[in-house]
Formats: sequence, structure tokens, C-alpha cells
Amino acid sequence: MRILYVEDNPTNLSLVQRLARIGNHQVISHPDGESALADFESDKPDLVLMDVQLQGAMNGLEIVKALRERGYRTPIIALTAYAMVGDRERCLEAGCDDYLPKPLSVERLVDLFKRYDSTNGQAPTMPAAAVESNTGDA
Ligand code: MN
Repeated sequence: MRILYVEDNPTNLSLVQRLARIGNHQVISHPDGESALADFESDKPDLVLMDVQLQGAMNGLEIVKALRERGYRTPIIALTAYAMVGDRERCLEAGCDDYLPKPLSVERLVDLFKRYDSTNGQAPTMPAAAVESNTGDA
């Protein structure tokens, strides 16, 4: 899938790029919200990772609100360094589907990519019959 990552921190960006490559996902990135907003139509992402603290006039949640106002329903995951009470609510209110706290966890990112990758079901790693025999009632 195509993952749009709006992030001003190169370390986080390279981590996400590395994990995405392992899962055969493509990462499109923007260092600020304004360019992400401007290019959204042509970027056509399947999933958006949105850093909340961004340089520039708009923070990540303002970008999310603007995208929702424009009618985009792409899943958006907010990434915030301030994992405080109320963060989740603020992110959901802005129109995000979920949020991940920073520092980023490899495990949670991998899990997130799996959950939002709509091609997952078309590439089974184990035949259904094998799964069934493992959970059989014998
Ligand atoms: Mn940031």
C-alpha cells in the first residue's frame, strides 16, 4: 500500500521507511503539513501517518481537520510525542482513526501496517485448511 508519512524528524522517517520496505509498502513523505495538503490528491495514499508536532503554520491535527473537511476518508494515524491523558481524544476529534505514541515502537508499526493493508487477505501465508486442522476439535 501507499503510506503517506508527514514527519519533520529524519530518524523517525527512516525507521518507518525501513519497516515499510520489509512489508513491501511504499512511503511518500512530506516534512510539513502544508505540502502534504497540497500534494494529497496526487499522492493518493492508502494510509496516512501524521506527526502532530510539525514545523510551519499548521500542526498535524490541523492538517487532519483540513483533509476531513475536504472529504478525504483515508485512514489517518496521529503520532504524538506527548502521550498524555486527552491526547487520544484530541486526535480522534480532529478526525484521526487512531494514534501512536512516540518514541515509535517497531512492533506497533508493523502491526499497524498489517491491519491497514487491504491486500493482506489476498496473500495468505498459511492455507486455510492447515489453520482449521490446528484448531480442530479432535
Ligand atoms: Mn515533529
